[in-house]
Formats: sequence, C-alpha cells, structure tokens
Amino acid sequence: MRQQWRLFIAGAYSDGGGETFPDYNPATGVVAAEVALATRADVDRAVAAANKALPAWRKTPVAERARLLRRVADGIEARFDEFLRAEVADTGKPYGLARALDVPRGAANFRIFADLAVGLGTECFETHTEDGAGALNYGLRRPLGVVGVICPWNLPLLLLTWKVAPALAMGNAVVVKPSEETPATAALLGEVMATAGVPPGVYNVVHGFGPESVGEWLVAHPDVAAITFTGETRTGQAIMRTAATRAKRLSFELGGKNAAIVFADADFERAVAGVARSSFLNGGQVCLCSERVYVERPIFERFVAALAAEARRLRPGAPEDSATTLGPLISAAHREKVLGYYAAARAAGAEARAGGGVPDLPPPYDGGYFVEPTVWTGLPEQSACVTEEIFGPVCHVAPFDEEEEALALANAGDYGLCAALWTSDLARAHRLAQALEVGVIWINSWFLRDLRTPFGGMKLSGVGREGGRYSLDFYTEIKNVCVKL
Ligand code: NAD
Repeated sequence: MRQQWRLFIAGAYSDGGGETFPDYNPATGVVAAEVALATRADVDRAVAAANKALPAWRKTPVAERARLLRRVADGIEARFDEFLRAEVADTGKPYGLARALDVPRGAANFRIFADLAVGLGTECFETHTEDGAGALNYGLRRPLGVVGVICPWNLPLLLLTWKVAPALAMGNAVVVKPSEETPATAALLGEVMATAGVPPGVYNVVHGFGPESVGEWLVAHPDVAAITFTGETRTGQAIMRTAATRAKRLSFELGGKNAAIVFADADFERAVAGVARSSFLNGGQVCLCSERVYVERPIFERFVAALAAEARRLRPGAPEDSATTLGPLISAAHREKVLGYYAAARAAGAEARAGGGVPDLPPPYDGGYFVEPTVWTGLPEQSACVTEEIFGPVCHVAPFDEEEEALALANAGDYGLCAALWTSDLARAHRLAQALEVGVIWINSWFLRDLRTPFGGMKLSGVGREGGRYSLDFYTEIKNVCVKL
C-alpha cells in the first residue's frame, strides 16, 4: 500500500480538504506517497491551534521545555530507521549519507538548542544618573508567538529541526510547511512530538505548495508573527514582499554560488578530496556546495585531472547499495534545469573534464533523476554557469595567479554564503577570511559544523544569522527594563 503523509494540526493527523498530491521517489521516478494538500482553512486551523497552545507553552519553565525537546531527540533516535527510510524515499539520497548526516543532525538540533536555551541569560547595564543613585537596565526575553517555518527539500529533516528546535525552546509555537517534494520527515515528527509530550498545537505541519498556496497563506497570515525560511533567493524575495504588509520578522537562509580557493601550497590530496566533497555531496544539492573552484596556476592542470578522477569515481544508483555514493536530483523539473546548464556550458565553450551528461543506469533507476557529476573548465567568468546557482553535482574550475585575483574572483557576483580555502599559509588564510564577502568560511575543511556558531549569508544569500544564540535571539523579543534606583 502506498504511504500517506497527512497534516498534523493540534496534536492529531488529518486529511485536510481531502485533496492529495503525489510525492515522487527521485531515485526511480515512481510515486512513493500521497500527501494531504492543506486548504486555506487548514492553514487557519493550524495557526489557531498554535495560538491556542501559546499561553501555556510560553509559561512552561525553560528547563521543562528543554526536557521535552531532549525527549524529541530520543524519539527520533528510537525511530531512526523509520526516519531514514522516509528521508531516503523523499530524496533518493544514499542511505549511508542520510544515516551519517540527516537523521543524526535532526536529533542533535533538539539537544543543542535545549542545552543553549537553558543556559541563556540577558545583559544588565548599570547606568549613572545625575542624583548618583543610578539605574539598572536589564533584558527580558519573550517568545515571538506563532512562527511560520518554510523549508526546502535538500536536507529536509536537518533544516527543519534547525529552525523548529530553537523556536520551541524559546517558547514559540510553530506551523511548518515542508517542501512539497519532501513532506515525510516533517509529518513523522508530529508523532514523535506527541509521544514526547509536547502539547498539542505547539508543532503543526501543513503540506502544499508555495505561491498562491500554503506557503504564501502562511506568510500572509495576520496571526503569524515571524517567518523563518530556507530556500531560493527568488522565493525569499517573494516572501519578503508578502510579509512586508505586516512588517514581520524574517530570517532568510538563501542561495549561494560558493567559491573554493586552492593555493599551490595546500596539502594536495586533502584539497582534492575536500573540493570533490564540497562540489558533489548530496548531488551538489547543499546550499554550501562549491560550484566555482579557483586553483593557483602551478597546480591547475594536476588539480583538474585529480578532481575529474574523483568525479568519475562517484557511483550513482540504488540508495540502499552501500557502493552508491551519488544520489539523484530532487525532481524531473530540477534535472531539466541542471541539464539546461550542462547544455549552456557546452554552448559557451566549456570543456567537460568529467561528466556532462546523464548516467546509464539499469531499471528502476533509469527512471530516476540522475545526472553525471561534472567538472568544467574554460568558461568565461560572466557566463550563467559561473554566476547562477545550479544546485547540481557540478563545478567550474579556473586558474589564478595572485592572491588578490583569487579574492576578487571569489567575491564577484551577487551571492555571499560561504567559501572554502585550501592553503598551508596561515597568515594568508586569516587575511582572506577577513576580506571574503561571505558569512561562513572554512579553512582546509568544508561543512565542518559546530551548531553553536553563527550561520548565514551576505548579499543575496540571506538575511540574519541562525545557529547557537543567534537562533535564540531571532526567536525572541528582548524588552529592556530600566529601573531608577
Ligand atoms: P524554494 O525556494 O523553491 O522552496 C523552498 C520552500 O519555499 C518550499 O517549501 C516552497 O514550497 C516554499 N515557497 C515557494 N514559493 C513560496 C512563496 N511565494 N511563499 C511562501 N513559500 C514559498 O527552494 P528549494 O528549491 O526547495 O531549495 C533549494 C534552494 O534552497 C537553493 O537555492 C539553496 O541554495 C537554498 N538553500 C539555502 C540554504 C542556506 O542555509 N542558505 C540551505 C539549504 C538550501
């Protein structure tokens, strides 16, 4: 029997208006599940349930909220295999990847924000006054209210819990709209919340689409105080327009066109392995992936050959096969988009040093949305393939001669999410870290995450920071109280 993913409102699953939409398994192109499509009335019901839950939840001592969130983490781990299967059926990614990254991070997000919320205080300023008695200024944190959580499909559970955990820890209630491509783990989490003892209405899930659908209705809803969004820059711009009428608080984690810079003094093997990982992990569908690689000229040819060899070693195919190291793209439409860039690159004179096409796979994976991991050289810096986010397993490699040139190349363009530097010259690494116009910099690593650190992008890559206390700040109003002594 086909899997069903339902809405989760006020602590119970429901079918909403009765309409459904299909959820495809990207590894095979076969429908994996039917998903209940929320109506506008369902969105209203979810927001009302969240509002109703708020007074008691915000009054619940933070230690008790943290205890419940730790139980949610335990609950994810207790049903690890179920989350794993759901995530893989939605994304087609290899089991090994989801087992190592997506599901453990889903649980870890609840633990870290439970701990951080319990330890969080506010500042106190002692103020001098004319009469000498002075005044005290202290901060009070209060939850925002109902927070709308809008998520993408690339790391569904990881990115959802990254927002839900701090929001709940700080006493907010949430209405989540997972991506229409990946509704499964958000829906499963409802049951885990209920079993853990999170009160009904604190966590709600509504499934559906973005424009003129569930996403837009949630953003526009007058009783939703804030929106936390991860997704494409264009979508962020649309959300900003909708949210502007009520001047809602917004946190945006948007697109990227990230650079990796490899100097000739880098540990060569480590840099090749690192850039292969940063270009191809999750089929290149991580906002942090490197799609532009700049390599110092003396090692350029050798580096390109080694990176291309790494790309050719990746094995697309069955998610459950431990030999599989490359998953599919998320949808037929996304594959069309990525293949459009493959064609545009050829037309613009790129040389595909690896890949460039579609892999030949046996059934049922011939129906999946796979593309070959691809390494290009020879494109002009102004070409669309070098300036626009592709979000596939692909990078363009170009040579540079001087540090300043590498910096200017990396800083070019509209995005500013992250950069990875590969060098053994520590002074240079620090110098570049100061000058790069991005929110996150890795030196001799990539995607090495400490969840307490600020995370977010500059320019068109985002607004605000999440992570650690930055998340806790976003999900609270701070009131200043001035006491004349
Ligand atoms: P997307 O913007 O197409 O969709 C994201 C979510 O927004 C979905 O749930 C979608 O239904 C919803 N949505 C779409 N239009 C909407 C509207 N008008 N109003 C309200 N909601 C709307 O993004 P995607 O394709 O799911 O994800 C890939 C993108 O996400 C890439 O651009 C990637 O760089 C970005 N991303 C960024 C980060 C980060 O931390 N910066 C992390 C992961 C992904």
